[in-house]
Amino acid sequence: MLGEGIIKGMGETARNFFGSYVKEERLTTVQYPEERLPQKEAARKSKDRKPDYIGKPQFYPAVFDIDTSVCMSCQICVEVCPFEAIKMDTEFELSTTDRFDGLQFRKSDLAKSNDYYHSIHPTEASDVDGRLAAEKAKAEAKAKADAEAKAKAAAAPKPASSPTSAPVPALAK
Ligand code: SF4
Repeated sequence: MLGEGIIKGMGETARNFFGSYVKEERLTTVQYPEERLPQKEAARKSKDRKPDYIGKPQFYPAVFDIDTSVCMSCQICVEVCPFEAIKMDTEFELSTTDRFDGLQFRKSDLAKSNDYYHSIHPTEASDVDGRLAAEKAKAEAKAKADAEAKAKAAAAPKPASSPTSAPVPALAK
C-alpha cells in the first residue's frame, strides 16, 4: 500500500512521543552533553579478535564497507592503517545509476591481491613488502630468543633452599 511505511514510521514516532510521558526508556534523546547515556559494553569495538600477520591478537571490525557516496578519497585511512592493509586504487570511474547500494563497496569488493597492488603501484608495493618482511623476521627472531631464554631458565639448576630460621623466643622479663 502506498504510504504504508510513512504511516508505520509516524505510528512509531507517536508511540515514542506519548509513551515518553509514562516510560523513561521511550525517551530516545537526552540533553547532550549535560546528560549522557551509558555506553554499551561492545560500543565502538568488535569482539572479533584474530591474530594479525605476526600472530598478535587484534580487533577486527565486524563489517567493513566503504560508502563511496561519502568517501572523499582523502587517504587518511591509508595513512593511519598500521598494517599497510589499505591502499588507494587507481580505478576512479565509479559513477552508477544506483546511488544507494551501487555506491557501497563490501569487503569482498575491496579485497585485492598483493599481485594487484604490485600491478598498480609497483615501487610502493616493493617497499612495503620489504618493510613487512623485515618486521616479521624481527618478530620471529625475538620470539625465538624469548623461547630460548625461557627454556634456559627452566633448565638451570635451582639454588638450594636456605634453612628456615627458627623464630627467636621472646625474652622473659
Ligand atoms: S578516510 Fe578513507 S574511507 Fe574515509 S573518506 Fe578518507 S579515503 Fe574515504
